[in-house]
Amino acid sequence: MSYRAYNFNPGPATLPLTVLQEIQEELLDYRGMGLSVMEMSHRSHEFEEIIGSAEALMLELLGLPTTYQVLFLQGGASLQFAMLPLNFLPPGATADYINTGSFASKALEEAKKLGDIHVAASTKNDNFRSIPGQHDLKLSNAPAYIHITTNNTIYGTQWKYIPDCGETPLTADMSSDILSRKLDMTKFSLAYAGAQKNLGPAGVTVVIIKKSFLENALDNIPTMISYKTYAKTRSLHNTPPTFSVYVLKLVLAWVKEKGGLAVIEEQNKKKAALIYDVIDTSEGFYRGHAAKKDRSDMNVTFRLPSESLEKAFADEAAQKGLIGLKGHRSVGGIRASLYNALPLEGAETLAEFMKDFMDGKR
Ligand SMILES: *Cc1c(COP(=O)(O)O)cnc(C)c1O
Repeated sequence: MSYRAYNFNPGPATLPLTVLQEIQEELLDYRGMGLSVMEMSHRSHEFEEIIGSAEALMLELLGLPTTYQVLFLQGGASLQFAMLPLNFLPPGATADYINTGSFASKALEEAKKLGDIHVAASTKNDNFRSIPGQHDLKLSNAPAYIHITTNNTIYGTQWKYIPDCGETPLTADMSSDILSRKLDMTKFSLAYAGAQKNLGPAGVTVVIIKKSFLENALDNIPTMISYKTYAKTRSLHNTPPTFSVYVLKLVLAWVKEKGGLAVIEEQNKKKAALIYDVIDTSEGFYRGHAAKKDRSDMNVTFRLPSESLEKAFADEAAQKGLIGLKGHRSVGGIRASLYNALPLEGAETLAEFMKDFMDGKR
């Protein structure tokens, strides 16, 4: 067996070992075709089967009916920051954004270039430690849509409730927590996610869209940034990122085999609780960044008493095979990303390491 580290990188991130093994087995000869999926026509029957089952599995796992469609795009979640307003913010209309972190800020700054944006709530003043409550949301009068970021990858906060937006379409960047928990996805008109956190490799961006919402999309926009283009052609208008879609399909099948989102959620909560427990019982040695009620189960962010201890922590952890723990530069400290594919033993090993490290330094 090859050496496998416990990989806490925020993205691209760890993938299930069994998925990597399946890729390896099928790499040279995909099901007797004598070629790799990488070398296969995107118009072939076999690839259509791959992309079709990726879509079906996604809807099934998210508990969505066929009034929704799944699109496979490129350009990352970052392109969605522009694509969403380009499709759904007509001249003269306003869109409401809720600012809960650095990607949320990027999404709204991008949208501002394209139309009128109203910031309905922001937690910037508390350094993005928290998520606004329903009563903190000051929505504008009849916005075209509302945008939230369900998990704030850099600050380590997560929406624990779905805001009530009345009749206004709710849209979300779910890049770092899609498929990590049971969520009533029918509350969303559109959700998007770069695959490289919880879904697969970089290169493919998943968009989930309600068909009735799609009908409102503007028509006179360039082909490649129109959601309708991808919906009409089932993401095969041009060459999609075929290999990334294939790996994504294997990851979805792995989620299903594990027992779906209920089982995944339980395991994710268990992993996060292991780390938060060490923080909470460390008598201030470890200081969590996020407000307790808004803590992310995906990205656990914390500080140590000094920057030199933080560096020593990340270095020693890496020597023990716990990698990717350095925090984002805007928060500093440590960030442990605990996506679906990080095994429970990874979180257990990190929790033990945290206790040992603290005992050695105090
Ligand atoms: C990583 C991330 C992004 C950026 O994704 P790209 O695919 O690199 O563009 C956007 N939003 C959130 C919440 C993220 O975690």
